Amino acid sequence: MPKPINPTIGTCECSMKGCTEIADVRRMKNNGPLYLVCPEHGVIRPPGKAHQEYILSHANLTPAPALDEPDPEPAPAGDPEPTPAPAPDDPEPEPAKPKNGGIFDDWF
Ligand SMILES: [Zn+2]
Repeated sequence: MPKPINPTIGTCECSMKGCTEIADVRRMKNNGPLYLVCPEHGVIRPPGKAHQEYILSHANLTPAPALDEPDPEPAPAGDPEPTPAPAPDDPEPEPAKPKNGGIFDDWF
């Protein structure tokens, strides 16, 4: 079984003195300590809290690695049909009526 690679969660200036490379920040499995992978120095994983603090204060961590995130909640079952907007309450315009007593009255 291939060994899973710890995901890169950000970038950080290499912690080696004088090194100007930007290292990847990775986290050990099971929410373990952070470590750096520098293009120049390779894996930098000194034990101890000081290095963790160095990483935390220098790293640009990518927000929210979507590993332990729960699935997004499904949309709540709403109304099957959208409610139609209520009709505006204005009266229908009166149709134009022919005036009584027009010229046709004389025909009958
Ligand atoms: Zn380095």
